[in-house]
Amino acid sequence: MSYSLDNLESCTLCSELVLPRTNVVVGDGNSNKPKIVFVGEAPGKNEDIQAKPFVGRSGQILRQFLEALGFSKKDYYITNVVKCRPPKNRDPKLEEAKNCFPYLKIQLDQMNPEIICSLGAHATKYLISNGDFENVNKKSISENRGNLIHIKFGEKEYKLFPMYHPAATIYNQSLRGTFVADLKKLKELTYPI
Ligand code: URA
Repeated sequence: MSYSLDNLESCTLCSELVLPRTNVVVGDGNSNKPKIVFVGEAPGKNEDIQAKPFVGRSGQILRQFLEALGFSKKDYYITNVVKCRPPKNRDPKLEEAKNCFPYLKIQLDQMNPEIICSLGAHATKYLISNGDFENVNKKSISENRGNLIHIKFGEKEYKLFPMYHPAATIYNQSLRGTFVADLKKLKELTYPI
């Protein structure tokens, strides 16, 4: 099949995601040459209802810190690897990530951000492996986070800045400091003085 963002909202590739979904969550923010594209894993319940990524509890954490640290809304776009909510918020299946991967590729191709910021282990793995999901680097998110990594995604090269998923800072409050420190580093990388 030939992929196009025009078909994304009517996509039926993932049999377990099509029926339960309320919306396909394409993304939110400035898609016209943003400095940063944040990439999470998949929409949750609130995101599915509002058709917007990161609007639930973890989204509030992310958006609050972006504002507090002075990131301008015109400078970023937020999306996910998988654009439909997996039932009961289970992890997306490999096949679902594979199905959705070309959409993310088109989005990144079009936006051509200075930096991609992956939120959490899953998004980081998907981006680093460039679709070859079985053959990912074995580094954990705690090793990858906070480092600028050069990746090839599709046919293009990007800078990737992995971070903890904001949800991880809800379950483990001790990660909150690292999460904020990484956001500050991301700000320095994208707004050089
Ligand atoms: N978690 C994600 O990875 N993405 C969202 O959009 C919301 C929560």
